[in-house]
Amino acid sequence: MADYTKKETICVQSGWKPTNGQPRVLPIIQSTTYKYDSSEQMGRLFDLEENGYFYTRLQNPTNDFVAQKICELEGGVAAMLTSSGQAATYYSIFNICEAGDHVVMSSTVYGGSFNLITCTMKKMGIECTVVDPDWSEEELNKAFCENTKCVFAETIANPALVVLDIEKFARVAHAHQVPLIVDNTFATPINCNPFQFGADIVTHSTTKYMDGHAMAVGGAIVDSGNFDWDAYGEKFAGLTTPDESYHGVTYTKKFGKGAYITKATVQLMRDLGSIQSPQNAFLLNVGLETLPLRMERHCSNAQAVAEFLEAHEKVAWVNYPGLKSNKYYELAQKYMPKGSCGVISFGLKGGRSAAEKMMDKLQLAAIVTHVADARTCVLHPASHTHRQMTDEQLVEAGVAPDLIRFSVGIEHIDDIIADLSQALENV
Ligand code: PLP
Repeated sequence: MADYTKKETICVQSGWKPTNGQPRVLPIIQSTTYKYDSSEQMGRLFDLEENGYFYTRLQNPTNDFVAQKICELEGGVAAMLTSSGQAATYYSIFNICEAGDHVVMSSTVYGGSFNLITCTMKKMGIECTVVDPDWSEEELNKAFCENTKCVFAETIANPALVVLDIEKFARVAHAHQVPLIVDNTFATPINCNPFQFGADIVTHSTTKYMDGHAMAVGGAIVDSGNFDWDAYGEKFAGLTTPDESYHGVTYTKKFGKGAYITKATVQLMRDLGSIQSPQNAFLLNVGLETLPLRMERHCSNAQAVAEFLEAHEKVAWVNYPGLKSNKYYELAQKYMPKGSCGVISFGLKGGRSAAEKMMDKLQLAAIVTHVADARTCVLHPASHTHRQMTDEQLVEAGVAPDLIRFSVGIEHIDDIIADLSQALENV
């Protein structure tokens, strides 16, 4: 049970809670291994009979304190850090899927997730059906097969900024007896808690707003504890029947609501090893302390930039869920009444070449392969993050060839708008 309910307080106070005489700041436990006085106790740790650390590839105390904070922010029961958002996406799915299984995925997910799930996981024998997040429940139902094991989507899609109807996706997933996994990177737990609307697992690229300073690549997975794996025991045999690679442990029997994260830790982390470095977890923790303040500023700045662009004569279109004219305005109000995120996309009347020219003229906003940073940054997804996609896939993913992704930072709004203004004048 968390000590605090207010997210601002959780961000500062949760996770590492020093007792008398301990360091005020979360210590970086820069140790790969841990010492024990008896070999019998070490044996019990290996058997999962006792809680404790034995090797940082599986678990590290610094990481666990930060995971605990993220867990409380999302309202989950268990959480883990991973080395990257990509690792979080992969583990979240692979923890319940194997060769011969099938995933339903929203077409608008981040390009890296799209590639991972439709290409790399396909090579591992996991098939995927791509669905339009705006489809009706009836249309979505048709995507499911006997061997479907989960649904994967993003709260706010990067960079299409499609707002997911989380309740609709949860209903459809649950009707087919599978969990809904939601990548909540862009909204962050400050603006949206997908568990409140029926999502079962949440993932994050902590590299984005959570770190917020472009310092540390990382990821996180949080389990709501709400999905009843045992109710569909045959479907989720990896969780509900003995794991021969782990002394015959049955995760749901032994760990109850902690089953999913325990399996991902002791089996996937053990075998695949995508642990976050304690140093990065420390930096992530520093970022988390100011997340609510930064999200507030990101959102108010982004709203002002979106309104400025919408009124500009050289701008052909603007996509931001905070604009009343936006297709997803109502959904954003429902799921994220405090604000959505600081990312905007737009196109210029001069098309792709004008977009590239304008970006080169920006001075404050830097061209970087990054998003959700304290510093304003800009990217042309068709030439950068999504360049592996065909034109058809780009359209499906909601990425127009002229789309400029503008990640509004926390600088003073006047300076951000002045920079955009001069760049637009020059095209
Ligand atoms: N999910 C989303 C929504 C992202 O934007 C990204 C990266 O941009 C990822 C996952 C992958 O995260 P990482 O770069 O930390 O591996």
